[in-house]
Amino acid sequence: MEPYRQLDFLQLDDQFTEEELMVRDTVRSWVNERFMPVVMEHWEAGTFPMELAPELGELGVFGPTIPEEYGGAGMSSVTYGLICQELERGDSGLRSFVSVQGSLVMYPIFAYGSEEQKREWLPKLASGEAIGCFGLTEPDFGSNPGGMLTTAKKDGDDWILNGRKMWITNGGVSQIAIVWARAEEGIRGFIVPTDAKGFSAPEQKHKWSLRASMTSELVLEDVRVPASAMLPNVRGLKGPLGCLTQARYGICWGAVGSALACFDEALSYSKERIVFDKPLAGFQIPQKKLADAATDITLGQLLALRVGRMKDAGKMEPHHINMAKRNNCAMSLKTARDLRDVLGANGITLEYHTGRHMCNMESVITYEGTHDIHTLAIGQHLTGLAAFR
Ligand SMILES: Cc1cc2nc3c(=O)[nH]c(=O)nc-3n(C[C@H](O)[C@H](O)[C@H](O)COP(=O)(O)OP(=O)(O)OC[C@H]3O[C@@H](n4cnc5c(N)ncnc54)[C@H](O)[C@@H]3O)c2cc1C
Repeated sequence: MEPYRQLDFLQLDDQFTEEELMVRDTVRSWVNERFMPVVMEHWEAGTFPMELAPELGELGVFGPTIPEEYGGAGMSSVTYGLICQELERGDSGLRSFVSVQGSLVMYPIFAYGSEEQKREWLPKLASGEAIGCFGLTEPDFGSNPGGMLTTAKKDGDDWILNGRKMWITNGGVSQIAIVWARAEEGIRGFIVPTDAKGFSAPEQKHKWSLRASMTSELVLEDVRVPASAMLPNVRGLKGPLGCLTQARYGICWGAVGSALACFDEALSYSKERIVFDKPLAGFQIPQKKLADAATDITLGQLLALRVGRMKDAGKMEPHHINMAKRNNCAMSLKTARDLRDVLGANGITLEYHTGRHMCNMESVITYEGTHDIHTLAIGQHLTGLAAFR
């Protein structure tokens, strides 16, 4: 197979700054050299290559938009988007690892934390010395996190946490968990050390999607944390939802990366594969699949780029992200399904990447708000009427 050549049908590279392209290419090379050689074995084993965490820290992809004084790189949101695109071109599990760390752990500490919390945790999280996870979803409350049953009760100056979280990315490999719990005063966020007494993170096994990513339950049984563990500057569901807006932004770029990987593979495979005495790429039906994919990916790239520029200009609002996450995940899943077929039987082996991306996208279209929940959010924005219940 030919080396990776990214589809750029509308010459969108012209729209990026030199710095943005430089960061993208650096991350692309790292993914090619360090991640691609191990992705198949980890996906098959259902593990994440944890030994790469310090390298990811050195690469600067954990919380790159966080200011330098806290260990971030103060990069633009578009640069961060390109980072997510390149990571997910490798695997959705890799982008998820980085998204959780940056958008769901570093972001809430940065946006809602005290100065002491920021100084204590952000540099360690940026370097990969510490890994974090984000506990919002519960067994009975996924799309409707406002119904959460996990509680936080005051006991003197301490808080006592009880409850169960589910589907938590990096749960079993983290040093801290951002746990959202219901207190008397409303939903609050806590930085919980995972070695706290009463805290455990049993792994959720047997996934057939996002296998190169560790997923766990979080069990909290009378976990005692000091007052200083609470994120002081946010209260209510807007806390976790604000984090999700950040993470969904990365997903809308990442989903493009996954689709780009599938397109590149199907294009080069179809040019090499001979059927009925000529290259598969010379037949009309595969050409239609490639033409559809190239068009859909290009539209997804435009959407991500526009939302990214709006984010950098301070104009992005949650409904923009609802549209971009919804569209780009659906696009990426459809692209992977259509192009997996171009690979024939080879398409179902892990020797090729498209089938792995196809399976991964089933998680990505579900987490951080399902496709249908984003549909309802857009509908609510357009009509002013909520159809959630
Ligand atoms: C691999 C993976 C990793 C994850 N990582 C994390 C993580 O790190 N942290 C975390 O907190 N969570 C995480 N999640 C959880 C994820 O965010 C939830 O699974 C997601 O929000 C959907 O919730 P649910 O699974 O409970 O589905 P449900 O809410 O039960 O939804 C089931 C179906 O019902 C539909 N539905 C729900 N409500 C409505 C409605 N009002 N109207 C119409 N249709 C509706 C949904 O669209 C969906 O099709 C992860 C999930 C996966 C799969």
